[in-house]
Amino acid sequence: MTSIIDATHTQTSPVAPNPARVLVCRGCGTEYPLVAQHACYECFGPLEVGYDPALLARVTRAQIESGPDNLWRYAALLPTGQDPSTRVTLDPGMTPLVPAAGLAAELGIRAPLWVKDDSGNPTHSFKDRVVSVALTAARGLGFTRFACASTGNLANSVAAHAARAGVPSIVFIPGDLEQGKVITTAVYGGDLVAIDGSYDDVNRLCGELVETDEFEDTAFVNVNVRPYYAEGSKTLGYEVAEQLGWRIPAQVVIPMASGELLTKIDKAFSELVEIGLVEAPANGWKVFGAQSAGCNPIAAALHADTDEIIPVRPTGIAKSLNIGDPAAGLYALEAVRRTGGWMEYVDDDEIRDGIRLLARTTGVFAETAGGVTVAVLRKLVENGRLDPDAETVVYNTGEGLKTLDAVAGQVGPTYRVKPSLRAVRDAGLLG
Ligand SMILES: *Cc1c(COP(=O)(O)O)cnc(C)c1O
Ligand SMILES: [Zn+2]
Repeated sequence: MTSIIDATHTQTSPVAPNPARVLVCRGCGTEYPLVAQHACYECFGPLEVGYDPALLARVTRAQIESGPDNLWRYAALLPTGQDPSTRVTLDPGMTPLVPAAGLAAELGIRAPLWVKDDSGNPTHSFKDRVVSVALTAARGLGFTRFACASTGNLANSVAAHAARAGVPSIVFIPGDLEQGKVITTAVYGGDLVAIDGSYDDVNRLCGELVETDEFEDTAFVNVNVRPYYAEGSKTLGYEVAEQLGWRIPAQVVIPMASGELLTKIDKAFSELVEIGLVEAPANGWKVFGAQSAGCNPIAAALHADTDEIIPVRPTGIAKSLNIGDPAAGLYALEAVRRTGGWMEYVDDDEIRDGIRLLARTTGVFAETAGGVTVAVLRKLVENGRLDPDAETVVYNTGEGLKTLDAVAGQVGPTYRVKPSLRAVRDAGLLG
């Protein structure tokens, strides 16, 4: 496979060059070229994209603001190059930042509260961001089949992106996934493989498949092209800052599965400050992580004040977050400790209440991951970890229609009456 930096292209193109320079080990700092590799040969640590600071520093607010109304407005900050004709994408991004005064009032938050609602992406979760970046990089690297190991939303997104690009796909999921996520993947017509096991079993299997000759031409978005995939999450940080008028909020609350999204929102804020697109907030920003009680290995490590993340066998309704052995857990701990944030976890009843609370106060219907995040926000206010007088953004990463079962038994018609005026009056509906 070849490098995605194409020297001839960057010289002749009228657009700015790809700012990505290397893959760098998050553990020991060893650098590698921009190829399809995700682990360090020296220490087995995960690799991350490293950029040319001089190229990043050239990016201006005006350049971004004149870009398309989707995540590609940040192309000059991503490892994909900037030629639109090379993209494998459904053009996700620029989702609403919803003011949430009603939710704030209910929770006792006095400063502005916002919900970054990513349920409106083309396949209804934030995963469209990471998949667009991963598959654009993958095609540039010469891959001809797209794949992933998924907790649900990634499956939807990879299958849809492959269909749009006319590229074959093969998607691996745990066998017990919600029907809403199976159907919204299968409908796109690629291969869908349900494995009798947990997500961690599926992920381990994909790690073995990617080494076989039969899968040599296959990009697993969260395995062999994972460093590129992870960068797509940065756009959830850039967008919030831009939508706030180029400011970074004092506090952000983020759901965690592998923990990658949390680390990349923090990375995005750091980059914006470094390259001068936003001013560093006087008191910095605090990053808060949200997990479910059924799968809380990162939060449990924080609470035990250790770096040792003990893998768990996940249970509970927040299936999109059910990664028992989280790849970026250590880096999520680092970001939360460095910024002075915190992590909490909530049980299934609290998650259901969180979904309903968010819906009732903002008009946003979240999947279980959003219920986790809102319930954790409530817990953080109650235990005093989150400052109710500081501006806060809470991330909703997925759509409620995909996990209807979570609340199906709890909500329904508030009245049932015969179709007559009298029946309506007898029910007390005329006051
Ligand atoms: C995948 C996912 C996450 C978290 O992703 P990580 O980067 O693995 O922590 C959050 N919310 C939803 C809905 C997801 O599907
Ligand atoms: Zn290393």
